[in-house]
Amino acid sequence: MRRALIAGNWKMNLDRAEAVALAAAIAERSGAAQEVDLAVFPPSVYLDAVRDAVRGSRLAYGAQNMCHQPNGAFTGEISAAMLVDLGCRYVILGHSERRHILGETNAEVNQKTIAALAAGLVPIVCVGELLAEREAGRTGEVIRQQFDGSLAGLSAEQTARLVIAYEPVWAIGTGKVATPQQAEAVHMDLRKILKDRYNATIADGVRILYGGSVKASNAAELLTQPNVDGALVGGASLKADEFLGIAAGVSRK
Ligand code: PEP
Repeated sequence: MRRALIAGNWKMNLDRAEAVALAAAIAERSGAAQEVDLAVFPPSVYLDAVRDAVRGSRLAYGAQNMCHQPNGAFTGEISAAMLVDLGCRYVILGHSERRHILGETNAEVNQKTIAALAAGLVPIVCVGELLAEREAGRTGEVIRQQFDGSLAGLSAEQTARLVIAYEPVWAIGTGKVATPQQAEAVHMDLRKILKDRYNATIADGVRILYGGSVKASNAAELLTQPNVDGALVGGASLKADEFLGIAAGVSRK
C-alpha cells in the first residue's frame, strides 16, 4: 500500500516572514491529514527558517534542487550533505523549469539523483512532456527517455527509495489540468516501465505523484486514480488552505 505524498513547491516566491508564516500555518494543521505525507519546498535560503517553523510537527521539507558534487569549487551550488544538515528529507530533481528554462539534462538529473540517494535524501524526480510532444503522440516516448536517462544505472534498492513526479509541462502554472484519465494512463506506463526494469514489488512500491495545476477543487478526482499517489503542487501550495485542501482530497480515496 503506497502512502500518499502531497508536496508543495514554493519555487522562487515569498520572503522570509511569509515563508515562516506559511510553513507554520500548514504545520499547525498537518495533524488532520494523518494518512498523507506532507512536505514543502521553500527557496533554499529559507530552509533553516522553515525547519524552525515546522519543528515538532509532521510537516517535512526539502529543497527544489541540489548539486551532484559533494563539495568544492562550485560557486552558487548546494550539496546533498548541506541539505541533510538543514534537516531536509526530500529534494526535487529535474523539475521542468530546470529542464526547459535552465537546460538541465537527463544526465545531470541522473548524477543528482545518485548523489541525493547516497546522502539519504528522497529524490522526487520529475518527468513530463511538452504540449507539442503530446500533440505529436510522443508522450510515452518522451517519458521513457526521461525515465531511462534520469534513473540510469539505479539499482532496485535505490529506485525503491525515490519518488517520481509526472508533470505534463503544458499543465504547469497554466491552469490546464491533465484529465484524471490522461494522468492515470501515464502513471500506469511509468509503473510498467518500473516493472519491466525491476520487478512487480518495486513497481507497486514506488510513489508516482501528479503535478500540473492541482488545486483543492480538482485534487480529489486526480488523487482517486489508482496509480496517482499524491501531488506535486506549485501555485496552490502558496496558500495553506489550498494545500491542506489538496491533502484532504486524498482521504476521499
Ligand atoms: C509545479 O511547478 O511543479 C507545478 C505543478 O506547478 P502548478 O501547480 O502551479 O501548475
